[in-house]
This record gives sequence, structure tokens and C-alpha cells, in this order.
Amino acid sequence: MIPEQDRPTVAGVTRVVLATANAHKVEEIRAILADVAGVELIARPVEVPDVDETGDTLEANAVLKARALVDATGSPALADDTGLEVDALGGAPGVRSARYAGPDCSSADNVRRLLAELAGVDGPGRTARFTTVAALVWPDGRQLVTSGHVDGRIIEAPRGSGGFGYDPVFAPTAGDGRTFAEMSTSEKNTISHRAAAFGALARSLLAASYGD
Ligand code: IMP
Repeated sequence: MIPEQDRPTVAGVTRVVLATANAHKVEEIRAILADVAGVELIARPVEVPDVDETGDTLEANAVLKARALVDATGSPALADDTGLEVDALGGAPGVRSARYAGPDCSSADNVRRLLAELAGVDGPGRTARFTTVAALVWPDGRQLVTSGHVDGRIIEAPRGSGGFGYDPVFAPTAGDGRTFAEMSTSEKNTISHRAAAFGALARSLLAASYGD
């Protein structure tokens, strides 16, 4: 991490509300953006409800979530949307990753369905990638959208207790065979789709010095 006094600052961007209420995601995003001084990340106020992800793309959903939060709070808002694309399943679950196993399903349900769909598919055929789209929207309508991805494969049975979502069955190609759920947050953050998307967002903010 860059020492406090040497961190770059972002003119005008001081307070950004995060659309996610997922504590794991908040932890990851805070760590990724830790070197951008002067930007205070605020958790979504409890009275502001979550937004239905009705868009057909990750970008549409990320912008939808951020814009709803801007409308509710009057502050700049930051949202992300993530999809897991599995090649043997024609890119599914993709933009439907959150509700792959049904409307009120848990992450464990989603993982179970994914493994069931891939039954009989051998190791080399289990390639997949996570993509995250991050959207920062200002009250005056400006928006900054970035994306990042990580390649990997879906292993045969869950491993590890860290992370969240599909982490126990996703082993990134850039790693040593462990799943994201077997890595610390900081290890995941060096290679993850979310780190790539938010890292690009931070670089764009710093380069352009967006106003408030
Ligand atoms: P969301 O749209 O970012 O909320 O995520 C869509 C789905 O992907 C949810 O089921 C999440 O649990 C899952 N997901 C999002 N990010 C990650 C991740 O970093 N690792 C594993 N699963 C994730």
C-alpha cells in the first residue's frame, strides 16, 4: 500500500455511496481503492432498498444500481455487477449469475446447479471467466464505466471457506490451482475481475480528475 502522504488525491470526489450491501464486496472494494486518497466510501444506507437487476447486460445493471442510489441519496454512487461465463454452458450463467438456481436462491444453490450442469464435462472443458463492470454515477448525470475480467476454470467440488458466491469452485488461471475461496482477500485482489474493474476506475479517476 502507498504511504498516506504519497497517495494521489482526486479533485472534487470526496464521498461516494456504495450500492452493495455485501460485506465481502465492500471489503474488497475498500482494499482496492485504498490508495485513492480523499475518496470516502459510504455503505448503502439501510433505508435505501436494493434495486432489481432488470438489465440485459452487466453494464446496464451496474448503471441502474448506481443511478438508483444517486436518486435516493443525492451523492455520487458506485455500483458493480458481476457475471460468471462458463464456456461449456454457452456463456451461462452470465448476467443471470445471481439467480442461476432460482429467484430466492443462495450461493450454495447456485454452485450446486453449476456443478450439476457441468457433470460429465472434463477438466479442459471447464474453462470460465468472471467479468465485473463498475459504474460511478454523479448527481449531474456524468458516469464512468469500467470493466475487468479473470480467466479460470470450474473445479469438480467446492474447496475453501473464504470469499463468497462462486469462489469455492473457481480456480483462476493466474493462480497456483487454489480456488478464490482458498485465498486471502489480498491475494484475490491481486488478480480478480473486481480488482481489474475498480483498478481501471481508480486510474481513470486519477487521470481525469473528475469534478464533484
Ligand atoms: P453481482 O451481480 O455482483 O451481485 O453478482 C452476481 C453473482 O455472482 C452473485 O451470485 C454473486 O454471488 C456472484 N459473484 C459476484 N462476484 C463474485 C466473486 O468475486 N466471486 C464469486 N462469485 C461472485
